[in-house]
Amino acid sequence: MAASKWVHDFEEGSKEMKDLLGGKGANLAEMTRLGFPVPPGFTISTEACRAYRQKSGKFPDGLMEQVGEALKRLEQKTSKGFGDAGNPLLVSVRSGARDSMPGMMDTVLNLGLNEKTMRGLEALTGNRRFVFDARRRFVMMFSDIVLGLGREPFEKMFDALKERLGAKLDTEVGVEGLEELVRDYLAYVREKLGRDFPEDPSEQIELALRAVFDSWDNKRARDYREFHGIPHDLGTAVNVQAMVFGNLGDDSGTGVAFTRDVATGEKKLYGEYLGNAQGEDVVAGVRTPIELSGLEQRQPELYRQFADLAERLERHYRDVMDIEFTVERDKLYLLQCRVGKRTARAAVRIAVEMVREGLIEQSRALLRIEPEQVDQALLPSFEEKERQQAVAAGRLLGKGLNASPGSASGKAVFDADTAARMGKTEPVILVRPETNPNDVHGMLVSKGILTARGGATSHAAVVARGLGLPCVAGCEQIWIDEEQRLLRSNGKEVREFEPISIDGTSGEIYSGVIPVATPSFEQAKELKDLLGWADEVSRLEVWANADYPRDATRARQFGARGIGLCRTEHMFMERERLPIVQQMILAGEPEERKKHLDQLLPVQRQDFLEIFRVMDGLPVVIRLIDPPLHEFLPSHDELLEQVFHLRASGGSSPELEEKERLLDRVEQMREQNPMLGLRGCRLGILRPEITAMQTRAILEAACEAKREGVKVLPKIMIPLVSHVNELRTVRQELEAVARQVLEEQNMEIDYKFGTMIEIPRACLTADEIARCADFFSFGTNDLTQTTYGFSRDDAEGRFLLEYVQRGILPDNPFQTLDPTGVGRLMEMAVKEGREANAELEIGICGEHGGDPRSVVFCHGVGLDYVSCSPFRVPVARLAAAQAVLGGIAVAASR
Ligand code: PEP
Ligand code: MG
Repeated sequence: MAASKWVHDFEEGSKEMKDLLGGKGANLAEMTRLGFPVPPGFTISTEACRAYRQKSGKFPDGLMEQVGEALKRLEQKTSKGFGDAGNPLLVSVRSGARDSMPGMMDTVLNLGLNEKTMRGLEALTGNRRFVFDARRRFVMMFSDIVLGLGREPFEKMFDALKERLGAKLDTEVGVEGLEELVRDYLAYVREKLGRDFPEDPSEQIELALRAVFDSWDNKRARDYREFHGIPHDLGTAVNVQAMVFGNLGDDSGTGVAFTRDVATGEKKLYGEYLGNAQGEDVVAGVRTPIELSGLEQRQPELYRQFADLAERLERHYRDVMDIEFTVERDKLYLLQCRVGKRTARAAVRIAVEMVREGLIEQSRALLRIEPEQVDQALLPSFEEKERQQAVAAGRLLGKGLNASPGSASGKAVFDADTAARMGKTEPVILVRPETNPNDVHGMLVSKGILTARGGATSHAAVVARGLGLPCVAGCEQIWIDEEQRLLRSNGKEVREFEPISIDGTSGEIYSGVIPVATPSFEQAKELKDLLGWADEVSRLEVWANADYPRDATRARQFGARGIGLCRTEHMFMERERLPIVQQMILAGEPEERKKHLDQLLPVQRQDFLEIFRVMDGLPVVIRLIDPPLHEFLPSHDELLEQVFHLRASGGSSPELEEKERLLDRVEQMREQNPMLGLRGCRLGILRPEITAMQTRAILEAACEAKREGVKVLPKIMIPLVSHVNELRTVRQELEAVARQVLEEQNMEIDYKFGTMIEIPRACLTADEIARCADFFSFGTNDLTQTTYGFSRDDAEGRFLLEYVQRGILPDNPFQTLDPTGVGRLMEMAVKEGREANAELEIGICGEHGGDPRSVVFCHGVGLDYVSCSPFRVPVARLAAAQAVLGGIAVAASR
C-alpha cells in the first residue's frame, strides 16, 4: 500500500481544504494559485498531526521522507540550499489549525540558521547586524518553544544588555551587542541542557515539527478550544515556508492589514506597519507600530501595490481579509491571509455594505452574522453625562488604541491569575503591560482589558474582539508598576482593586466607575436593514413577552410582531397594588373578595388598555393568573419570627392579632411543592372570581381601545392545563363573562381563548385540548421542569451546571430546548393539535423562544411564532431567518 500523503506543496491546495491543510495552509495555497507574491512552501497536514498523536508522539511512516523531498523542491524554487553555507535557505515553521486560534500554538522563524549558514547569509545580505538579529531571534524562539527553556531568561538577558548599552529599542543595539547576546544565549542553552544548541538544520526542523504538533495539546490551546467549542481531536497542520526578511533595513518591514476597519466596519484599508522588523514584533505588540497610512507616505508605490492586492483578495473571498505581509528590500510578499475577525458592530455593517456593493447576496449576509453578535452590536457604552462629569473631575487617565469596542468598569487587577480568581464573582478589568496566551484564563472572565503596549493587532486586541470584550491597547501614557500593583498616568494613581473604567470604542481610560448605557436600536441602521431582510425570509414570526406598556414599546421598536405572553400577576406585585391583592386573598367570604377585586379591576383595565394602544394592529396574548396565591403574601418564616417576637415582648396587641391571623392564613395556604400545587388554571377553577375579573378587564380595555380607533386582537390564555376538562370548565365560565361585557358595551371584539401547553399530559392529549382551544403556546419553562422532573430553581443552583460540565447533559435544557425529550412532546402536540383543529395557532413563550438553536427547532416543528423577552427579539429575528437558510451561523472568522 502506498504511504499516505502527509505533505502538500502550496501549489497543490485551495481555500476549500481547511480540514486537511488548516486555515493558514489552505489560504496560502489559495493565494499561491491566484499568483499572489507568496514565498513558496509546503504544508504538513492535520492528518499527519492526528496520526502523530495517535502514535503517542511518533511521526507516521514516510513523514520525514516527504518533508525532505518537499524541502528539495523548495530549494529548487528558491535556488537556495537548506543548510548551504554559501546560499542558505531559511524557513519559518508555523502551526495552523482548521479554526484560527490566535497565538495559542507555536511558531519558529529563521529555522536553518547555524554558524555556517550565518556566514552565507552575511555574504548575501552584506548586513552582519541583520544576521545576528535573525540569529538571536531564532535561538530564543527555538529554545523557548522547541527546547522548552521559556522566553523569559532570554528576554531578561536582552533587557540587561539594552540597559547596559543605554538602548531603548531593539533596533538601537549594534552588531557587537547582538554578537555578545547570541554568545550568552548559546552558553545559557549549554548550561541548562548539558548539550550544544542543535546546529544541524535537519535536526532543527524535525524538533520544530514535533514541538508544533505538541503545542496543539498545550494548556492554553486546550483552554481556548474548550471555550470556543472546538473539538480537541482535529490536530494542527504545520506550514513550512521560505523566510523573507522584514528586518533587512529601512527599505524592509512587516505589517498586518485588514481590508476594512474591523472595529467599526468602515470601508478603508486599515492596519499597521513596523519598519525594519519581523512579523512577531507586530503581533507580540512589543513595539508600537505606525498606521498603514504612514507606509503610504514612505513608500507610495509599494503601498499602492499592496492596496491593489488587498482589494483583489477581498473580492475573491467576498469578505474582509486579514493579511500579514513583509517587505524585503522594497519587494512585497504576502505571508498569510484569513477572513478577518471583527467586532459584532463591524460584522453587521460590513455584511450590509457588501450586499449594497453587490459583493454578496442578502442570504449570505444573513448567514454571516452569529445571532449572539446581534446582541453584541448593541453593546453598552458610558452614559454621556457621567462621562463628562468624569472628565470635568479630572478622572481621564489617558487614551490608548480603541482595540475592541464597548465600555466597562471594574476593579483593576494586574495579573491574570487574580483576574481569574476574582472575575467570576465581581467585575474586574485586567491591566497588563501587554498580554500573551498565558493570560487567556484571566481575560475570559474580565469585563475589559487594558494594555500599555501593543497595537490593534496585538494579542490583547485580537482575543478581546473574539470574546466581545472592550479593550484599550497600547496606552503608552500609563505606566504600570507590576510589583507595587498600581498604574500611574496623568499624575494619578490607580491601585490594585480600585475601580477603573475603559472605553474600547474611544480608547479612553478613567479612574473610578462610570455607569454604562445600552445603545439605541433605533440608531443601529445597518442592523435594522439586516433584520428587515431577515423578516422577508423567515416563516416564523417573532413576538415578545411583555408585561408592561414600556416593555411592549421596546418590543415593537425591536421588531416584535405581537405579544406572546403578558404575565398579569406581575401587575399584582406592584407596591401600591399588593395590599389590595393581599386583602383579596385573605378575604374569608366571596363577597368580601369581590369587593377587593372590584378595586383591582380598573387598575388591570388601565394596564391592558395601554398595552393595546402600543400594540395597535398586533396580537396580544394575555395570560390569566398563574402562580400560587401565597406568593403574594408575606413569607411564612418572617411572619413566624415577627409573631414570636411580639409574643415575647408582652402579650396581646392589635398588631400581634393581625400578624397571627395572617400567619394562620399563610399556613393554610402553604404547599409542599407549590410548583406542582394550586396554581395556573387550577387556581382559576377554585377561585373563579379572580380570572373573571381579569377577563372583564381585558375585554373592557379592548372595547375602550377600539372606541379610540385602535385595532385590538386580544387572546386570553389559560395556563397549566393538563386535562381538557380543566380548559373546558374555565373557558365556559370566561366565555360567559366575555359575552356579558360585549353586550354591556354593545361592541364586537375579535377575541380568542387558548391555552399554554406546559405539562406533558397536555402534549399527550393535544388533540382533545385543541378542539377546545383557539391557540396553543408552549410554556417550555414548565414543560422542561415537568418533563425532566427537575425543579428549575433547585436544579440550576445545584446539579445542572455539573451535569453540563461532565457532559451528562449536552446543554442546560432551560436555556436550549431539549430536542429529543421536550421537543418530541412538542412535535407530537403540534401534529395532533393541528389534525384536530386546522385553525389552531401555535407559538412558544418559554425562555427558549429567544435562544437561537431553539428558534431553529421551533421553525422545524412548524410553529407560527416564537415569543421572547424584548431584548432577545433582534437575535430571534435573525435566527428565524437562518432557520430557513440552513441553520445558525457561526462567525465566519472562527
Ligand atoms: C413557561 O412555563 O414556559 C412560561 C412561559 O410560564 P412561566 O415561566 O411564567 O411559568
Ligand atoms: Mg409556566
